[in-house]
Amino acid sequence: MSSVDESWEIKDMTQATLTQTAGTSATIKNLKCKECGMEYDAKAIHICEDNCFGPLEVSYDYEALRRQVTRETIQAGPNSIWRYRPFLPVSTDNFIDVGTGMTPLVKSHRLARRLGLKNLYIKNDAVNMPTLSFKDRVVSVALSRARELGFSTVSCASTGNLANSTAAIAAHAGLDCCVFIPADLEAGKVLGTLVYNPTVMAVKGNYDQVNRLCCEVANTHGWGFVNINLRPYYSEGSKTLGFEVAEQLGWQLPDHIVAPLASGSLYTKIHKGFQEFIKVGLIEDKAVRFSGAQAEGCSPIAQAFKEGRDFVTPVKPSTIAKSIAIGNPADGIYALEIAKKTGGNIESVTDAEIVEGMKLLAETEGIFTETAGGTTIAVLKKLVEAGKIDSDETTVAYITGNGLKTQEAIQGYIGEPLTIEAKLDSFERALERSRTLERLEWQQVLV
Ligand SMILES: *Cc1c(COP(=O)(O)O)cnc(C)c1O
Ligand SMILES: [Zn+2]
Repeated sequence: MSSVDESWEIKDMTQATLTQTAGTSATIKNLKCKECGMEYDAKAIHICEDNCFGPLEVSYDYEALRRQVTRETIQAGPNSIWRYRPFLPVSTDNFIDVGTGMTPLVKSHRLARRLGLKNLYIKNDAVNMPTLSFKDRVVSVALSRARELGFSTVSCASTGNLANSTAAIAAHAGLDCCVFIPADLEAGKVLGTLVYNPTVMAVKGNYDQVNRLCCEVANTHGWGFVNINLRPYYSEGSKTLGFEVAEQLGWQLPDHIVAPLASGSLYTKIHKGFQEFIKVGLIEDKAVRFSGAQAEGCSPIAQAFKEGRDFVTPVKPSTIAKSIAIGNPADGIYALEIAKKTGGNIESVTDAEIVEGMKLLAETEGIFTETAGGTTIAVLKKLVEAGKIDSDETTVAYITGNGLKTQEAIQGYIGEPLTIEAKLDSFERALERSRTLERLEWQQVLV
């Protein structure tokens, strides 16, 4: 982009001063193949082109991290994911800070009691900034790196939330933006992308077809695709969901986490986040069980887990949980490894259970999540009922998106307002009617 937006320059200079205590030297080393270990310069590539075609992951100078970072330097940083900058794959302080991250970790009382859990927490990314899903974390990181690598146009293959984040944060940073989504997405997700005025390609096909098309475009157009050629950087942003929970629990790890799985990236990076904090001595080592949630209509990882396979067979998605409907998950095998290694479970639930999960979280905790969050809560419930989460385990459920974006999913499953005249007796009659109805419903439940 030729016209540099002055406002971010000024803002980022403030950030630079703020983060100086955290050390300004770069800790990012290079990219490393997860399969064969071959190393690459930290450019815009995501697979091991010279050898095995495995996925590449960012590696860091952990000795430098150990020297630079303390609990105090982190706490002195910004109130966003950038307080963890030395653990994120950028090489300057010129990152894009739109206030993403540091969402509430809520101690659950009513949902916990309902499920019979003593120590349940909700990590509430339904209120993450700026577009109300955890994707703002990964996109903030990916676009910061994209700018460092000199991209002027950014793009993504999205199930909805990623398009919202990419369009919003590109707008903030003054980058050109073109996003690709499946044509059948929820209205809220489409509108929540269009408002930022990017180019939106609605592809007639499912996410996996969108992704395939985008791989071709990435090769021919030289754009920065946050979840394709920039994927190694993008995915590191999810580590902050691990960092924040550890910090918010008072620099301790939980016993058990439950997170939704689409590509499996978020789930594996929470694990990497915990491991890195242990490695540099910020927290004590502890076994954490990793459980994962999928919608039955798109559950290739859960199916593989149940059958004890170490490979994932792609499926064709059909579920209301569109944001996690990836039939061919890129990080599926790594998610399986973590679930097995940590003694967790990967479980799936039906669309009806997902709706129930959304309502349950709303009614007990006052948190309106989207279908992905409904999936997580429904799986949490299923695992507790199956005795796979102990009542005294400190458990964190990751709520990754906001319910206002997927209103279609619960339309018809919730109550309706009582329409009345602007008169006291009209109100009294309506109130009496609703109480009678409630009594009748209770009697039915009791019968
Ligand atoms: C994308 C997404 C996920 C899962 O992401 P992966 O990292 O691909 O597993 C979970 N929840 C919501 C709301 C999402 O948009
Ligand atoms: Zn390799």
